[in-house]
Amino acid sequence: MKQIVGQRITLALSALLVSLFTSSTASPAAGRRGSSASKLLDLSRSKVVDLSHSFDDRTIYWPTSPSNFKLTTLSSGETPGGYFYSANSFCTPEHGGTHLDAPVHFSQRGKSADQIPLRQLIAPGAVVDVSKKAANDPDYRLSLEDLKAWEKKHGAIPSGSILLLRTGWGGRWPDKKRYLGDDTPGDASKLHFPSYGKEAVEYLVQQRHVAALGVDTASIDYGPSKDFIVHRTASAAGVPGLENLAELDKVPEVGAWIIALPMKIAGGSGGPLRIVALIPE
Ligand SMILES: [Zn+2]
Repeated sequence: MKQIVGQRITLALSALLVSLFTSSTASPAAGRRGSSASKLLDLSRSKVVDLSHSFDDRTIYWPTSPSNFKLTTLSSGETPGGYFYSANSFCTPEHGGTHLDAPVHFSQRGKSADQIPLRQLIAPGAVVDVSKKAANDPDYRLSLEDLKAWEKKHGAIPSGSILLLRTGWGGRWPDKKRYLGDDTPGDASKLHFPSYGKEAVEYLVQQRHVAALGVDTASIDYGPSKDFIVHRTASAAGVPGLENLAELDKVPEVGAWIIALPMKIAGGSGGPLRIVALIPE
């Protein structure tokens, strides 16, 4: 910390934040984390990329969801006091749009949205790209071989990092039929989109101890899944999911930091998520 004394406030703040990122021992994962990405991050020179879709009346929900995002105007306009005033209420199921899956979503004793250690939601990102394979097979699932190929190129996936699976599906948003593979209301039996595979997720949570699993499709299980084995494996290991992510093509395979902060719903099985990537320039 000594080096930052006397520097400009903005730089000092940046260094302080980097120091916070690298020095906390708030979770076991933090202590095991590789430090290469954190050393490269200077917040004053980082590009910030928004990985969340906006919530509106086109936001995609699971076909069996009883309702979608609803924004209701409570006030909008000139008040008797002569000033403008605007306020809305909103209503949404937890699992729709860009959102978090808390471990309790598929594991009875798993943590709820408000209980997930922040260290699991603020961490270096590792992006694995399967967009070419998914373009030829909409039911493509990330394989162990894909992860081994990534590690041959970049080294072992650092413990405590946020794995982001880039399938290219983010570009299909908000076209529900192209994004989910089917848009029959109330029917989730004919969905087609890529995501994680069973061996890959076992390797990621059991061997690599990732902090969270993100994807630019509607689910960390692929469209045709009936057993939701990826959700169950991740939830059992206390690993949250980050679904319906945007702009993953703008995040490098290594070097970015991810900040994924969901709405803090007490007891929530998930919830709306604002997620950004900080990319060194
Ligand atoms: Zn979900």
